Amino acid sequence: VPGDEYARRRALLASDFGESKIDALFVSALPNIRYLTGFTGSNGALLLLPDGAIFFTDPRYTLQAAEQVSCITIVAEGPLIPRVAAVVKRHKPRRVGFERGRITFDVYERLKADLPMRSSLEPLNGFVERRRMIKSEAEIAAIRESVATNSRAFESAIKQVRPGMRENELAAEIDYRMRRRGAERPAFDTIVASGERTALPHAQPGAARIGVKELLLVDMGAMQGGYASDMTRMLHVGPVPRKVRRLYRAVLNAQLAAIDTVRPGVSAAAVDQAARRVLKSEGLDQFFVHSTGHGLGLEIHEPPRIGRKMPQQENVRLAEDMTITIEPGAYLAGFGGVRIEDTVVVTAHGCEILTPTSKELRVL
Ligand code: ZN
Ligand code: ZN
Repeated sequence: VPGDEYARRRALLASDFGESKIDALFVSALPNIRYLTGFTGSNGALLLLPDGAIFFTDPRYTLQAAEQVSCITIVAEGPLIPRVAAVVKRHKPRRVGFERGRITFDVYERLKADLPMRSSLEPLNGFVERRRMIKSEAEIAAIRESVATNSRAFESAIKQVRPGMRENELAAEIDYRMRRRGAERPAFDTIVASGERTALPHAQPGAARIGVKELLLVDMGAMQGGYASDMTRMLHVGPVPRKVRRLYRAVLNAQLAAIDTVRPGVSAAAVDQAARRVLKSEGLDQFFVHSTGHGLGLEIHEPPRIGRKMPQQENVRLAEDMTITIEPGAYLAGFGGVRIEDTVVVTAHGCEILTPTSKELRVL
């Protein structure tokens, strides 16, 4: 990310203050801090004012902050909150926004106790995340690279698959190959599930052995250059029974239908509905137990959620340069499940599928 992009993001966010009736913003979520400063460490806070920003961290990060952060930096020897409060006292903003879903009750109480009498704390939801939904050119390039690494690691790792191999062995092969190809880490705990365990949408790889005539589900993502990728593919060891083929075909058609509806202006719920409609026509809709997809970027799960419209939740409309996953699935207890997942970017007239990996059921 070019250095001046951070200053531009901070200015853009400060221009949202009026709409949310705040005069300052206390940013505590690390991905949001990274988005606004470039800081990649594990302890920091950011106070955003209409005309500038102050970053807080501890002495372990003195050098790193000097390299990464272009705004004023305060290195605090002790806890950060009293230092944040001291700066608030100097600038006297009337209403200080904070990220209600991102701080602990402890931090909230300390902040409230230390704040000057005149300043009030205003809970905000997704204030920074809303801006983060639309990716810059540099961010899309980073996600593209993360996706490429992820797919290369997949191709290399599945060459190792043999009947009798344990799920957690394959998960380790995947993680190792990802890092060898430039990832900082997996974007989430790699999912490998075999046989009936594929019916668990978020199976944890265990000591179970990959068997013959069984489905194998791999859901993996890289975190590279700070950006996530996410892909699910299905494999089958040995000849594929007709029931598995039918299940696979139905989920694939649902995934393709959802991808087909993605374009600017379409609601996230409409994309979800497209997948659900196909599964319903196959009598499988009751086995699709999660959302169709999610935004991804600095975090593996971020807005927008591509799911059914929830009461009291705004139904986000897709816009150009959003990066999202499309991942319908169907899970039959005692039999097995199928999920197919790509990472896509919304373009001017539709979307581009970033994931290069073939969606054919791999027969090993
Ligand atoms: Zn996934
Ligand atoms: Zn996903």
